[in-house]
Amino acid sequence: MDYYSDQINRLVSELSALPGIGSKSAQRLAFHILNMPKENVEKLSGAITEARNNVRYCRECFTLTDSELCPICKNEKRDHRTIMVVENSRDLAAYEKTGKYSGVYHVLGGAISPMLGIGPADIRLKELLGRLQKDADEVIIATNSSLEGETTAMYISKLVKPAGIKVTRIASGVPVGGDLEYIDEVTLLRALEGRREL
Ligand code: ZN
Repeated sequence: MDYYSDQINRLVSELSALPGIGSKSAQRLAFHILNMPKENVEKLSGAITEARNNVRYCRECFTLTDSELCPICKNEKRDHRTIMVVENSRDLAAYEKTGKYSGVYHVLGGAISPMLGIGPADIRLKELLGRLQKDADEVIIATNSSLEGETTAMYISKLVKPAGIKVTRIASGVPVGGDLEYIDEVTLLRALEGRREL
């Protein structure tokens, strides 16, 4: 990209390092940013920097949040004895969008994948067991229906059931390999309501 000056090149190259942004999109975004009013650019860069500096994992459920406890864990009206286990914060957001789930969550930060060398110790299972030492009525396993998600679900079930806690798995209405965040709310709700005991 020798047709642009160094600073434009630098902007394009930073943008194209983002997921899903090819070099054409990066150029379009770069020129869009360069045409934005300066104060909007400052708002954008400020939002990026601040979020990166302040966002951390919730002490309780390990979702991404900007305070020690996320708003869901902080909410006393939620049922803290029902814990839904999801792979990541985007999955949590997908269930929250249904507006029908009143329990709390546990975000694993991935799924067990022998292929990728991700073992049980690489996701937040120890932390889940720690939480279950306190009161819990039900653990709803809402990992994806991919091979990794199913492996993780089986693993958690074996780990949790001996403790005498009810373990359920969301119904398989969720398409195999489907990313939870792309599934519509009605399907998610049906999967949640149709959960079966493991
Ligand atoms: Zn939380």
